Amino acid sequence: MATIEMKNIVKQYGDGFPAVNDISIDVADGEFMILVGPSGCGKSTLLRMIVGLEDITSGDMVIDGEKVNDKPPRDRNLAMVFQNYALYPHLTVYENIAFPLRLAKMSDDEVDKKVRQASKTLELDEHLQRKPGNLSGGQRQRVAMGRAIVRDAKAFLFDEPLSNLDAKLRGQMRTEIARLQNRLGITTVYVTHDQTEAMTLGDRVAVLKRGNLQQLATPRELYDQPVNLFVAGFIGSPPMNFLPATVKGDQVEVPFGTLTIPKEKAEKAEGKGLLIAGIRPEYFEDAKVLDPAKVGTGSTFNATVDVVEWLGSQAYGYIPFEAPPEVQAQLTQLERDLDGEALHTPSSSLSTRPVGSPPAMRPRSTSTPPRCTCSTPQAATT
Ligand code: ATP
Repeated sequence: MATIEMKNIVKQYGDGFPAVNDISIDVADGEFMILVGPSGCGKSTLLRMIVGLEDITSGDMVIDGEKVNDKPPRDRNLAMVFQNYALYPHLTVYENIAFPLRLAKMSDDEVDKKVRQASKTLELDEHLQRKPGNLSGGQRQRVAMGRAIVRDAKAFLFDEPLSNLDAKLRGQMRTEIARLQNRLGITTVYVTHDQTEAMTLGDRVAVLKRGNLQQLATPRELYDQPVNLFVAGFIGSPPMNFLPATVKGDQVEVPFGTLTIPKEKAEKAEGKGLLIAGIRPEYFEDAKVLDPAKVGTGSTFNATVDVVEWLGSQAYGYIPFEAPPEVQAQLTQLERDLDGEALHTPSSSLSTRPVGSPPAMRPRSTSTPPRCTCSTPQAATT
């Protein structure tokens, strides 16, 4: 096991493109660190610099206290699992897992012991004599992990290992990776663009945007205290709502009403003109069916829910509103930064909201005037 210290790491590609800008991250011994961000943010480049597949333009890469900038990958003893698994199609599962041990000229007995140990851990015993081409995506992924495990490497490095799998299998494999890492306690750096993977797997998560580190924190801190609009919009599914807001005293005016916020927070925003308020969807409730005692603790407003998406254990309600051009421009830029889809695509993550309960309100910005397709306006509270 190892510590990994990235000190002011910069990567400029040959064409001058700054893929990674002055990033410093310390990964503790046994820690599960996630590098997450939209496509092109530099997360794979950073991972490839840790493993030695990419030169470092400036900064230091330190593994277990030793600077490894000029060490070739084979001397760093790190095990990497790629998105495409990189299995040898002509070799059996057994020989695929054994491959790094054969390269290290290990005795047959030793190889057999290690391969069988890994295959037991990964439940691959019955597939050992099969070829990768005949396996499912999840089984191939496990073989790739088996090859990483047998090496007794200092750390695991994963580059989007689940993105080739369908949603259900991705969920299962995610749990398996978490279990495995828990059991082995091996230092792990895991690259993904999927915030759900980041939140569920990571001890800590580094959020990147265009080569810059935005925030490095535990999943809970990222969710509760995002440092900027980008992190707030990236973390959370369904994502945070962003609304044009003006603060007067302890009152915040948003498109569908006025909300009260704590005085100390209001003071920070006073006199700043038009702002963007972020409200997570779960803070909206349907006031009509809410416990009356709870209604009094929030702000109540009337709004038209134009679309309801029912997901079984949870439902999303959409409230259209108009945003002034200056806010709309910022939200459009944010959407671009988040790679287009994230702000408007509800995800399939589930909450504990019981079946049949009212929809979670999730206002969304729209350039068209509010539509009245919903028969009765809903009263909501936040
Ligand atoms: P993705 O999720 O799409 O793989 P990423 O966050 O892993 O994205 P990187 O692959 O690290 O991003 O790339 C970061 C930036 O560096 C991108 O803008 C990319 O265009 C650029 N880049 C990557 N490889 C090269 C290269 N060989 N030459 C020039 N620029 C490159």
